[in-house]
Amino acid sequence: MKQVVSKEVEKNLYGLTYPAMLELCEEIGEKPYRAMQIMKWVYHKGASSIDDMTDISKKTREKLKSRLVLELPKVLLDKPSNDGTHKWLIQLESGNAIEMVFIPEDDRGTLCVSSQVGCALECSFCSTARQGFNRNLSTAEIVGQVMLAKRLLGEYEGDVQQSQNRRVTNVVLMGMGEPLLNFTNVTQAIDIMLNDYGFGLSKRRVTLSTSGVVPALYRLKEVSDVSLAISLHAPYDTLRNELVPINKKYPLAELLEACKAYITESSAYRKITWEYVMLKDVNDREEDAFALAKLIKDIPGKVNLIPFNPFPNSGYECSSMNRINRFREILQRQGVVTTVRKTRGEDIDAACGQLAGRVNDRTKRTKTTNS
Ligand code: SAH
Repeated sequence: MKQVVSKEVEKNLYGLTYPAMLELCEEIGEKPYRAMQIMKWVYHKGASSIDDMTDISKKTREKLKSRLVLELPKVLLDKPSNDGTHKWLIQLESGNAIEMVFIPEDDRGTLCVSSQVGCALECSFCSTARQGFNRNLSTAEIVGQVMLAKRLLGEYEGDVQQSQNRRVTNVVLMGMGEPLLNFTNVTQAIDIMLNDYGFGLSKRRVTLSTSGVVPALYRLKEVSDVSLAISLHAPYDTLRNELVPINKKYPLAELLEACKAYITESSAYRKITWEYVMLKDVNDREEDAFALAKLIKDIPGKVNLIPFNPFPNSGYECSSMNRINRFREILQRQGVVTTVRKTRGEDIDAACGQLAGRVNDRTKRTKTTNS
């Protein structure tokens, strides 16, 4: 992917894709292999300053320092949960804060990162939506979250090989924000996550979750082959319009068409994860499960049922465990692979939709809803 390196805006090394690094090296009169060497220092060895790159001459390091900084966001608060989930409140330069969550499982460690400060979409059951939108995160701020988590987990320390579930083996763009509304920075960050000289994660292990910004999905398949999760939450337009209002602009039929194109016309991981939040008496009836199975039957994928995580004045309740199991049974009998997401980190408010952060709402939505 071609990245334009703006001298003003992008000075942070964590924001540069490999092609951009190549371009920068050319500009400062360095050979192309230098770009690979720098990336490896940063992402493989975890160098925290340009001066750590000891096999690069001092003169070259000075040149690099005149163009680049290596700057990570800072940890404001560190909250470990009883179940091993970890939430960090991250301070950004602008004075805003975002949250980042690490979820250890048996054989993997999943890092949930944010793509925006707040969110401009107004999904009715999500607490981030209540805070309104402040700004997009830069590429460096998105990549910086992964680097910061790896450091905090001690991945770069000595020769100790951490067990799989104490390392960042998977990244999900499921924190605050709608990733496809921050298209350029998010796709550049994904590029760095997947690149062999970057974090080198496989496309199966990096998942972008979207509420369904259809035109951006078509653009995504041109530049990336990352795994896709779709926040479906309802099998009919009437209900989805209410829960995920962007559906009024891009209704289900169009969304499903775009999903199909994404997995069939690109080299993407060929299975979609359909996310479906379980809301008591709203979308959890037996007929909803049948309708859902019918809707997605032609597209390879699996359903992930997410128990609703309540927050004050949400107006919703989570479906009972009985209902959730019944819903899953129906889907499975219809041939749809279905999992139920274990709710993690509840005691620290790190579960889905509870990522509060601290947002200065530029849309002033918080004020309007409070008054
Ligand atoms: N904007 C993106 C990514 C952020 S949300 C998207 O919509 O996909 C990540 C997932 O958590 C989405 O499926 C979202 O719908 C879900 N979610 C949001 N609030 C929730 C809540 N209170 N309980 C359970 N899941 C929630």
